[in-house]
Amino acid sequence: MKSCRLLTLLFIPLALVLAASADPARAGSSAAYFERIKEQPLLLREFLYRFPKGGELHTHLDGSVYAENYIAWAASDGKCIDLPTYTIMPPPCDTQEQRTPVADIQFDAETVNRIIDALSVRNFERRPLSGHGQAFATFGRFANAVPGREGYILAEVTDRAARQNNHYLELIYITGMPAAMAVGASANEFKQTDALARWLENPALQRAFADAVATTDAMEQQWQQVAQCDTPDAATGCQVTVRHISAVIRTLPREMVAAQTVLAFMLVEHDPRYVGVNFVAPEDHPIVLRDYDWQMQLIAQLAQHFPHAAKHITLHAGELAPGLVPPEALLGNIGKAINIAGASRIGHGTSIVHEQDHERLLQQMADQQILVEINLSSNDIILEIAGDEHPFDLYRQYGVPLALSTDDEGVFRIDLTREYQRAVVDYDLGYDDLVWLSRNALAYSYLPGESLFADVTEARRVKACSKDLPGETLSDNCRAFLDSSEKARLQWQLEGRFQAFEARY
Ligand SMILES: [Zn+2]
Repeated sequence: MKSCRLLTLLFIPLALVLAASADPARAGSSAAYFERIKEQPLLLREFLYRFPKGGELHTHLDGSVYAENYIAWAASDGKCIDLPTYTIMPPPCDTQEQRTPVADIQFDAETVNRIIDALSVRNFERRPLSGHGQAFATFGRFANAVPGREGYILAEVTDRAARQNNHYLELIYITGMPAAMAVGASANEFKQTDALARWLENPALQRAFADAVATTDAMEQQWQQVAQCDTPDAATGCQVTVRHISAVIRTLPREMVAAQTVLAFMLVEHDPRYVGVNFVAPEDHPIVLRDYDWQMQLIAQLAQHFPHAAKHITLHAGELAPGLVPPEALLGNIGKAINIAGASRIGHGTSIVHEQDHERLLQQMADQQILVEINLSSNDIILEIAGDEHPFDLYRQYGVPLALSTDDEGVFRIDLTREYQRAVVDYDLGYDDLVWLSRNALAYSYLPGESLFADVTEARRVKACSKDLPGETLSDNCRAFLDSSEKARLQWQLEGRFQAFEARY
């Protein structure tokens, strides 16, 4: 039924769809302006840059940094670089090529340009390396530049988000995971899959949890300080709400994956800043190809012990393409992430059409409203899948909720506006589609509280706020409802931002 409804929605006249918005006349004139300019790239960019974006649900904290910042931080932190591999290294440095002080080459344009290319996909097409090889290789090169600079990263990404009228981020990162990996590798019980009860009580892992919470405290304090959030000079990024997604590196031996997964569940269960569990790193890695089913079972088993976190599982799945892996490896990744691990959101989902019985799976995703975090530029560069080869429209036809994200704006040298622009150009979106994508990013966020919308696709609000208008005094019922739900408060703010935006066009 849902697919029929969405198909109808896609093809009825724009004015009717917009009747759902607060001020149809205003929304109608913004839509008309958008239709006039959408084939003019610069005017489209300007429009989409200002367009209110509900949030970004799939962005890796470390991959979001532009290489220039990593180089500057590494230089002032006394870090070094292994020039043959362009890998940033912790101090001490020496004057040998393997550990050159970054400060020594910081203003040597030729060297810096080569480092920027190595820490991102810039100019990758000019090298004998695939986008897949290059994009994933960058993470190991800048990993050592991150520690101690997490708050600066938050300041960078929140400012960039706020400038693009995006006020909510869920940032994926491995905080605490190196410690959890070490516990997994050294504690015998993690080698036994039937020792789950002892995993949960492992004292070293409890300490890793406490350390991860402390690291998160420090990261957020550093951000507030760097961005001067409590002063009149506060950076615009201070207005952005940030939540964290705890990421497990899945390309490691089972005991190390198991210990990380326990830590991820602990963080989401007990620290409200952590709102979701995720698994990261290439799905075509030989360990992932071997262990995928085991990893999904592991998540399912642990979820039974963490009832809150169990409802907040988002997994990279289907970030694959035919030829990258054997056809058999494409048959069940997305389905297993949903039906075994219990994922309520999917990152990428690019290989959906290659899943066994994909039509039934698409229908299930529509029925259960399992959102796909769409990363168009990332899929184009890593998987070489774009335009009509990408399942963006297929998901929409079935009524599967979608939201746009960058994956790694620093690695891909893009921003969220660029992804909206790409979606408009590649899939001929209307203004109503933009509003839908934007609202989805909050409606399917893992923020606590009930959604403002009983049905976000139809923009049908919950009863308490059904008659209220953005910018006007709230009814008592709506006020009480918004007070009870952080998610709905941000959604209400987004409706207000739509109103302000539409007044401009
Ligand atoms: Zn990702």
